[in-house]
Amino acid sequence: MIKISFPDGKVREYHQGVTALEIAQSISHRLAEEVLAAGVNDVTVDLGFPINEDAAIRLYKWDDAEGRHAFWHSSSHLMAEAIEALYPGVKFGIGPAIENGFYYDVDLGENRKLSDADLPKIEQKMQELARTKETFTRREVSKAEALAFFAAKDEVYKLELIDELADGTITFYRQGQFTDLCRGPHLPDSSQVKAIKLLGIAGAYWRGDEKRKQLTRIYGISFPKQKLLDEHLKMLEEAKLRDHRKLGRELELFMFSQSVGAGLPMWLPKGAQLRERLENFLKKVQKEYGYEQVLSPHIGQKELWVTSGHYEKYGKDSFQPINTPQEGEEFLLKPMNCPHHCEMYKFKPRSYRDLPVRFAEFGTVYRYEQSGELHGLTRVRGFTQDDAHIFCRPDQLKDEFIKVIEIIFRIFNALDFKDFITQVSLRDPSNADKYIGSDENWEKAEAAIIEAAAEKGLKTITEVGEAAFYGPKLDFMVRDAIGRKWQLGTIQVDYNLPERFDLEYAGADNQKHRPVMIHRAPFGSMERFVAVLLEHTAGKFPLWLSPDQAVVLPISEKYNNYAKKVVSYLNNSDIRALIDDRNEKIGKKIRDNELKRIPYLLVVGEKEEEAQTVSVRKQGEGDKGAMPMKEFAGLIQEEVNRQMDLL
Ligand SMILES: [Zn+2]
Ligand SMILES: [Zn+2]
Repeated sequence: MIKISFPDGKVREYHQGVTALEIAQSISHRLAEEVLAAGVNDVTVDLGFPINEDAAIRLYKWDDAEGRHAFWHSSSHLMAEAIEALYPGVKFGIGPAIENGFYYDVDLGENRKLSDADLPKIEQKMQELARTKETFTRREVSKAEALAFFAAKDEVYKLELIDELADGTITFYRQGQFTDLCRGPHLPDSSQVKAIKLLGIAGAYWRGDEKRKQLTRIYGISFPKQKLLDEHLKMLEEAKLRDHRKLGRELELFMFSQSVGAGLPMWLPKGAQLRERLENFLKKVQKEYGYEQVLSPHIGQKELWVTSGHYEKYGKDSFQPINTPQEGEEFLLKPMNCPHHCEMYKFKPRSYRDLPVRFAEFGTVYRYEQSGELHGLTRVRGFTQDDAHIFCRPDQLKDEFIKVIEIIFRIFNALDFKDFITQVSLRDPSNADKYIGSDENWEKAEAAIIEAAAEKGLKTITEVGEAAFYGPKLDFMVRDAIGRKWQLGTIQVDYNLPERFDLEYAGADNQKHRPVMIHRAPFGSMERFVAVLLEHTAGKFPLWLSPDQAVVLPISEKYNNYAKKVVSYLNNSDIRALIDDRNEKIGKKIRDNELKRIPYLLVVGEKEEEAQTVSVRKQGEGDKGAMPMKEFAGLIQEEVNRQMDLL
């Protein structure tokens, strides 16, 4: 017998060779129906995997990422089988599960092309195959056998992949008529795949290399219930309406120009002002927490990046060096601000009493991304981080974490992000030489993060082995108004850069000590943050941030002068107001300005002019009645202060 331990601490005995599915069956029939994959000692495996020794087990269902992953991976094999049945001779690239669904890259050959119109046919074939309850069978094969199998089908892409694998590590999965090279895991059979939708087609270079062949990537998603698919499709429709690229254009916030270059956003006046408001808000909060603003150039000498280690890690993927007329002089666009801030720390000797030193900068950085990877403001080649580096003593780590968490709370609160979780990424203690820094420091830093998160009441998931080699970190993920998750701010401990830049401070003992460094960016980047904000709010920004806060609508030309007087009164009271004096009916003016997502509409006519009032309509809430200008201004100021947490 072997001992199987469960996440709740319970231990049960089973016969040697028991499978995860049998374990699930031994617990309940229902669980056996819902379980999709299993974790055995933290390795995700098929439900049919025989367990031969004592082990810790997790049973993954639809709610677990690992469960969905196996489900979607199996679905991608199903799609490949359908495609092969419909288009004999097709060659396959890779077909992974992704965050939402799966894709497969295929090469149909010279004279065949897929379009969206072909997708329903493939979908139908998949449904058909799924219903026949095909089992996914795993088989270990030798490298020679694997090569022979795919050579017979002239599957050049698979052959290239196998070439890079070591003999003895290769597995095939087969379902129905289809066999694929895959590590798994998969579902036991296809019958759990109840609802399928193929979502679209894109071009994708083989291995992401622009010099190689462009394959056809087919995206799809599948679910164990039709209801879940219906909900997902509804969410996608809603997401389309909230697409930040579309809203950015409509609200005139930012643009891209092919002449300037792909992935290089430009902020239009309304967008630039919005960004400035965000920056000012953050600067103000950070000032309260003892940060000091600094400024550094957009480039740095190549040697700086060699010292920091970034050159070795990112050098070949980054932009090409900038050479000057001076022989041998070489600069790089900065991919991050940290090395500059390290140099600034070294400007003068620091003592333990000076720490923490907190340098903040809205630093613009440049990173090369393949053109196919670029996406609106979320994947760009140039962006501005709301960056800061804290240099502190090891004993100050916990306090500093608490302070950064408080800053992030202030931001989320002001921007109405109510639903978020955090992830603590720790090192894998069984793999200690992968990490830089002493055990003692790691233990202290990890404890500091965990305690700070607990003290602040954060909902936290802990991932062992997910820490960077240079320190543990805490990530914030927000859920937006339609349930999508976005990764935003990160707080990262770093033992590496202080070492590489030889940073020190004089301790109370008069000895030299190394400070610890914290990198933190609550927004992540201004670009990404504004994108998330646009998609979260559907362009209806909170009042304090909204490009225009109020628009005055005269009922007819006769009241244009009074309307102008209202606008200038509001502008003088620091309220962003404008006039719509087009010669249009008032109903149309109201509709048009609601579409522009201006929070307050102020209608003025004879009554209002006489009483020196405005008739207030609030976006989404309707008529609020008439009130004197001064009262309206007070109302706005109060709402803004409340949102910015200044009251
Ligand atoms: Zn697979
Ligand atoms: Zn940094």
